[in-house]
Amino acid sequence: MHRHRAKSSEIRCYTGPVAQKQNKAAHGGYCRHETCSCGARRSVNVNGPHVERGRWTTAD
Ligand SMILES: [Zn+2]
Repeated sequence: MHRHRAKSSEIRCYTGPVAQKQNKAAHGGYCRHETCSCGARRSVNVNGPHVERGRWTTAD
């Protein structure tokens, strides 16, 4: 078991909530698409100091 870490990330437009537990303050900014060295990905909404982190998901 390894802990996923963002090896690379891309900034995208905000498209909607990415987490079960939403943080509405983090909506409406931008969305960071993070990729781990193992290939897992997650989305993180960022709006100023507010952050909403999605869960890591693996391709398979
Ligand atoms: Zn990983």
